[in-house]
Amino acid sequence: MDRDVIAGLPVAVYSGLAQLKGGRIFVRDLRFLNRCIERLTGFTPEEIESNPRWWEENVHEEDRNRAFFRCEDLREGVGVRTFRFRRKEGGYLLIKDTAGNLDCGEEEEFEVLGVWEVLEEEGECREVFEAIDRAPAVGILIYRDRIVYANRAAADILGYSPEELLSLRPEDVVAEEFKERVRETVARRLEGEQFENLYKELPVVTGEGVRKIISLFSRTVRWKGEPAGFVIFLDVTKRKRYERFFRVLRDVNQLIISAVDERELLNRICELLVREAGFRMVWVGVPDPETHYVVPLNICGYGRDYVSRIRISTDASVPEGRGPTGTALREGRIVINPDTRTNPAVEPWREEMLRRGFLSSCAIPLRRDNRTVAILNIYSGVPHMFTEEELELLEEIQRDLSFALERIEKEKFMKMTNAAIEKGHEWVLITDEEGTILYANHVVEEISGYRREELVGKNPRIFKSGYHSREFYRGLWQTLRAGKTFHALFVNRKKNGEVFYLDQTIVPIPVGREGVRFVGLGKDVTSEKFLREELARLKYLDVVTGLPNREGFLAGVELALQKDRDLSHVLFIIDVVDFTGINQVYGTTVGDRVLREIGTILKEALFKRDIVGRIGGDEFGVLARGVAEKEISSLTGKLLNVLSGAFEVEGRTIRLSVNVGASLYPKDAGGATELIEKAFLALAFAKREGENTCRFFSEEINSMVRGYFRMRDELEEALREDRFLFYFQPFYYADTRSVAGLEALIRLKDKSGRILTPREFIFTLERTGLIRDVEDRMLEKLREFILRHRRRVTVSFNVSPKSFRDERFVEKIREVSKGIGRFLVLEITERLLVENQDYAKNFLEEVRAAGVKVAIDDFGTGYSSLAYLESLPADILKIDMQFVHKIAENPKSLAIVETIIELARRLGMKTTAEGVETEEQLRILNELGINYVQGFLLARPMPEEEISLLLI
Ligand code: C2E
Ligand code: CA
Ligand code: CA
Repeated sequence: MDRDVIAGLPVAVYSGLAQLKGGRIFVRDLRFLNRCIERLTGFTPEEIESNPRWWEENVHEEDRNRAFFRCEDLREGVGVRTFRFRRKEGGYLLIKDTAGNLDCGEEEEFEVLGVWEVLEEEGECREVFEAIDRAPAVGILIYRDRIVYANRAAADILGYSPEELLSLRPEDVVAEEFKERVRETVARRLEGEQFENLYKELPVVTGEGVRKIISLFSRTVRWKGEPAGFVIFLDVTKRKRYERFFRVLRDVNQLIISAVDERELLNRICELLVREAGFRMVWVGVPDPETHYVVPLNICGYGRDYVSRIRISTDASVPEGRGPTGTALREGRIVINPDTRTNPAVEPWREEMLRRGFLSSCAIPLRRDNRTVAILNIYSGVPHMFTEEELELLEEIQRDLSFALERIEKEKFMKMTNAAIEKGHEWVLITDEEGTILYANHVVEEISGYRREELVGKNPRIFKSGYHSREFYRGLWQTLRAGKTFHALFVNRKKNGEVFYLDQTIVPIPVGREGVRFVGLGKDVTSEKFLREELARLKYLDVVTGLPNREGFLAGVELALQKDRDLSHVLFIIDVVDFTGINQVYGTTVGDRVLREIGTILKEALFKRDIVGRIGGDEFGVLARGVAEKEISSLTGKLLNVLSGAFEVEGRTIRLSVNVGASLYPKDAGGATELIEKAFLALAFAKREGENTCRFFSEEINSMVRGYFRMRDELEEALREDRFLFYFQPFYYADTRSVAGLEALIRLKDKSGRILTPREFIFTLERTGLIRDVEDRMLEKLREFILRHRRRVTVSFNVSPKSFRDERFVEKIREVSKGIGRFLVLEITERLLVENQDYAKNFLEEVRAAGVKVAIDDFGTGYSSLAYLESLPADILKIDMQFVHKIAENPKSLAIVETIIELARRLGMKTTAEGVETEEQLRILNELGINYVQGFLLARPMPEEEISLLLI
């Protein structure tokens, strides 16, 4: 080869000796290099030729061991290699070295002639590469069959370290469905085919296994002399998601505008976020005020069981309350969990979250009326899906949703109030400031008789009745114009002229720029007004006789006394003797008839111009007006005569007897109440004198009344000083004459130590009401007595009428009888029991439920009808002593006693004969099969000390 020719060639040419060694070809002993090579490298020929290691020393360190010709190629003729070679002044050249075998033999050594072609000057590219390497967000890759270059952004996006990346094939990073296509592209590129590719969206799978979307551009290039693929790409995952997110937002807004139901709205939004925005799971939780846990309202997406698996508390003091949801709930702000793997706040749930691929999440508080009412929890399969930057977006969702919730609530409320107004029972009329009617509901139509069309546009004057004064309306408008509420009873007129009463409140309501509306809310009280008047009338009326009742009578008397202050009047109280008996025998219908008859006689025959009233069950009051003193006795006689006659009622003849008490105005009293009171006192005395008597209030009565008050004082004192005590009278088994029990009989020890019997004080005790206190005390004593005697003896207790009628008495008995019920018998007189049988029945049942027995006292004195016995569950009948006393002489008494014993036996009751005074009586009673006997023959009532001896 002519050196000069070569030296003049415009390409870099060298010749040298190549040597085959260990399967590799080394080119050494460069014999010749032309000027071009000198120019390229900057080394002088002397420097090159004097240094046999020139190539080794200046080839790039990394290329030194790999830049070889392939043996076969060079043996066959021509080989190619590329390497970086350092220039003298710095920087590398990328050299393509093409060498030809000049000997073409099988020798181990042969001469080669090579040509250097500069592919690129690295010095120029280095800065560019550095810039590329640092470029954020833009990924750049160069590949051959494997990736040979990747910048940092590429490594970040693809989720590998740069080293890991360099061991991968290009298709390794793309999603399964694209691998084949990428393989093809790569193959075409490596064969040198020149083309470009543009993928707007290519799914890749990162080193962490996360699917991402990249947007890429690629082109075939030469890399170090070889065909390669150059790829530049962007991570558009987020953008893609946000695009979807925004679409979702738009849909959400759509929903929000149309949603009418809160639950439905939240449901649809959860669905949207999962289906359209591609979140893994979304749920809405609400705080449970009882358990303080957050409970799900609705859940959507994958891994929904998560919500039921975990617990989220609202309480900041436990770790379960300090996660995103709890914090968002308490603080009312959006809380982001950027990365489940590293966020310490999600520690309590981390395992469950990762198991379901929830790599990041956020909790959005939904607020209504400045209160957090629910939390929207969103879970993403991508870490860092939610970052501070996206907060704005999330806040927008939050605002929209909160707005919607408020709107829904308001609309619900509006619908409700609308319905209430439209369908309610209230009169609703709305006018503008001038009073022009804008709205009237159906109630207005119904009450007034006008149709809405007739009212709208008119003035409420249309209802004017002429009842109210000018001032009334002036006051109305003044109040309303001052912005205050006006309330009044309106007397209005209907379309047909009828008057109606409207209880109306008119409220001025400002409606922004349109001024003020007056809303009238009213109620038709027409019928109530009449009702009230009717009620007032009834309050003073006795419905049976049509006469004034007690209050009515009192009011009437008061009025009359005021009117005829200077006249003399007589006040009569008329009491029908044994009216209960009449009711009992003939029934209440007849009883009512009798009362009506008496009323008619009094009002129409005797006292036409006077005041007559029914003032009690069987008591009538009369105020005879303007009666002169000399007329009084004849008037009274007439009264007694007429009333004590025989009455014809429903074909029956009923004989009545009465007692009358009377007082005089102004002699006995100056006022109605006192006058009536005194007549009552007189009545009490009349009753003592027998049937058909009249007593006038007198000095004698007065002094007796005073005596009554004295007695009352004494009784009060005795109660205070605890001077009431019990005597005990035993009763016996009739056959064995052994003690069966005791009857407790009350006594009073007076100040001198004398023992008083009930006959002397019990009347006053009952009249004054002191009986209740005394009886309470006595019941306590009885309880103590029974306990003291270790519950070995049964004791009877006499119940006073007052206590019996007192509803609280049963409670008292229940209390006293605790633990000793079995040893307690209550004696109740027959008279009391039949008086109000329903009450009595209930009383007996309750008392017996407490284990207490009941005896019917003074049995036989009352009534001929014994039917009640069947329904009154008593245990013992105490046959009244009036029969017992006469049993030996009077066959009628004997028959009665016999009947009673037989009846009691059949009804399952025991019998006691009281007042047994002779052996004869006892023998007869025994024969009749009496159970118990009691009386002076066997034992008198005795003080506790004595009875205790008897019991030992
Ligand atoms: P009662 O419940 O019928 O009591 C029987 C009365 O007959 C007792 O009079 C008793 O001493 C008397 N007696 C007993 N055996 C004979 C006899 O063989 N011949 C005669 N002639 N009388 C006999 P006492 O203790 O004076 O009681 C009179 C009434 O006072 C009692 O009648 C009862 O209705 C009432 N009473 C007595 N103690 C209490 C009481 O603690 N509370 C109430 N509310 N009333 C009581
Ligand atoms: Ca008794
Ligand atoms: Ca009795």
